[in-house]
Amino acid sequence: MTDANLSPAAIGLMPIPGHIDPVPVPRTNLVDGVTPRADGRIDVMGLPKKRITELFEIAGLDAKAAKLRAKQVYHWLYHRGVTEFEAMTDIAKTMRPWLSERFVIGRPEIVEAQHSVDGTRKWLLRTADGHDFEMVFIPDADRGTLCVSSQVGCTLNCKFCHTGTMRLVRNLTVGEIVGQVMLARDALGEWPKSATDTRLATMAGLDEDEDEGNYSSDGRLLTNIVMMGMGEPLYNFDNVKDALKLVMDGEGLALSRRRITLSTSGVVPQMARCGEEIGVNLAVSLHAVTKDVRDEIVPINRKYGIEELLQACADYPGASNARRITFEYVMLKDKNDSDADARELVRLLQQYRLPAKVNLIPFNPWPGTPYECSTPERIRAFSNIVFEGGISAPVRTPRGRDIDAACGQLKTAAEKKSRAQIDREALERIYAEKEAELG
Ligand code: SF4
Repeated sequence: MTDANLSPAAIGLMPIPGHIDPVPVPRTNLVDGVTPRADGRIDVMGLPKKRITELFEIAGLDAKAAKLRAKQVYHWLYHRGVTEFEAMTDIAKTMRPWLSERFVIGRPEIVEAQHSVDGTRKWLLRTADGHDFEMVFIPDADRGTLCVSSQVGCTLNCKFCHTGTMRLVRNLTVGEIVGQVMLARDALGEWPKSATDTRLATMAGLDEDEDEGNYSSDGRLLTNIVMMGMGEPLYNFDNVKDALKLVMDGEGLALSRRRITLSTSGVVPQMARCGEEIGVNLAVSLHAVTKDVRDEIVPINRKYGIEELLQACADYPGASNARRITFEYVMLKDKNDSDADARELVRLLQQYRLPAKVNLIPFNPWPGTPYECSTPERIRAFSNIVFEGGISAPVRTPRGRDIDAACGQLKTAAEKKSRAQIDREALERIYAEKEAELG
């Protein structure tokens, strides 16, 4: 018999679906979409304008003032990327301390930042409650793509994926998801600058009520976002949706939905919602064309099979030849890389009349993996067969290999380092005790 008082919801656990059964994880510190902080202030990062207005009213402003301040704060927060209320120069000087006493503008903490020789940048980030996750920036000649995480860990255990070896800790909040984009813009130094900001460099002091009409946002380095970092974004649908709405809002981060791609391992029931409610491009981690192999390397296949998945792709709202669905295919030696696999891939994509492109990804091995990367010759042969079938199948150039840029590797390296650090500290303690004993 189930005791309602002991249900997961009643004791602070929320069910998160896994590939076999729902996995309960501790509820995040969210009260009405707000992350309370130890100092009692409220973090506005990740909140929409309407919610900020409500909170300003609750804090004591009248409705008109709350609406005006929320509009100003929202603009400074998401469009200008400031991290202090004091920098909001069109808000009266007397008002700024009132805001700082009650509210805060959060960012995930940077634990480690790495820069590859090929320009790839990777950050290990930490939530306010101490959980680590990753973010990667990949610059190319014509674009700069930020790979954003949606969860700490993952429930799905894809066999080729290092994150799949980590248990799911929790969903990232809206603020933690959109905070990654904010951090990347901070690091790339590309928040729009106002004419006044430029003058500031040569002027001492600034009066309130700055003219906000004149700034430039040209020449951005960060042009594209892929929800392809740690976690399955469709298992954190609401937070991912709210975060991407802020990213796409013309008054917010103002990135076009055409430049945002959500990558799923195949959570079929949520795919239509993704197209209808978020409207971003879709990428699917296909990685195999037979039931046996996909069951092994992408275990969610046991729940939603290849045919069901491809039908959901064919039905994806907004998919067209101009907005093709990307199929990710990691090249694993003697596992999924034969000529027959390539031919079956073409057959399946044609059968479902999918506006598709295939990304062939050379496998980036990690310690303990059971797989090897296919040879360059095999990858070329596979790519040629798919191309001959009329489907674009470029081979992705491995990026950031010198900085462990494959998903999940930096977090593990940091954990190893901290264990080594713990051992070293233990040894230092023993030596200190011995020295004390010896007088
Ligand atoms: S590939 Fe994605 S869905 Fe699969 S285990 Fe890794 S993070 Fe999770």
